[in-house]
Amino acid sequence: MTREEFAAATAGLKGIYDSIKGIYTLKTEADRASAIHDIAMKASDASMALLEARSAMETLSAENAQLAKVNAELCNFMGDKENYTLKRFNTNGFAYVDNRLSDDGSQPPYFCAHCFGNLKASILQPTGESVGRDRLFKCATCAAKPLLGHIVS
Ligand SMILES: [Zn+2]
Repeated sequence: MTREEFAAATAGLKGIYDSIKGIYTLKTEADRASAIHDIAMKASDASMALLEARSAMETLSAENAQLAKVNAELCNFMGDKENYTLKRFNTNGFAYVDNRLSDDGSQPPYFCAHCFGNLKASILQPTGESVGRDRLFKCATCAAKPLLGHIVS
C-alpha cells in the first residue's frame, strides 16, 4: 500500500464519520436508508483498505527484520575484519588468513578473497587436486577455485 492509498483509506474513514453526522439532518426515511446504505459501502471499502494496510505492514515488518539481520551480520563482519590479512601466494592466488591463529605448525584456514569483498568470511576447502606442491582450494559459498601454495607476501 502506497502512502497515497493509505491517505485515501484515511479519507474514507473521515467520509464515514461525515456521513453518520449527516444522518441527523435528513428528513425522510428514504434519505436515511440511502445514507445508511452509503455508510455501509464506505465501511466495506475502509475495511478492505485496512486489510491491505495490515498486509503491507506485515510485509514491511518482515523486510525490516531481514534488514536488521543483515545489518547485524555486517556489523559483526566489520568489527571482525581487522583480524584478517590478505596474503599473496607463490601461485599469484590470494586468500585471507586469520591473524589470531597462532603459528603452531598446522595449516591455518584460508578465507576466500572474493567472498571477503562481499563481506563474508568463507573458508576455502582443499579439493584434493594439486599442481606440483600447490593445492587447489574451493570456496563453498561462491565456488571460486584459487590455486594456493605458500604465502609470499
Ligand atoms: Zn567465495
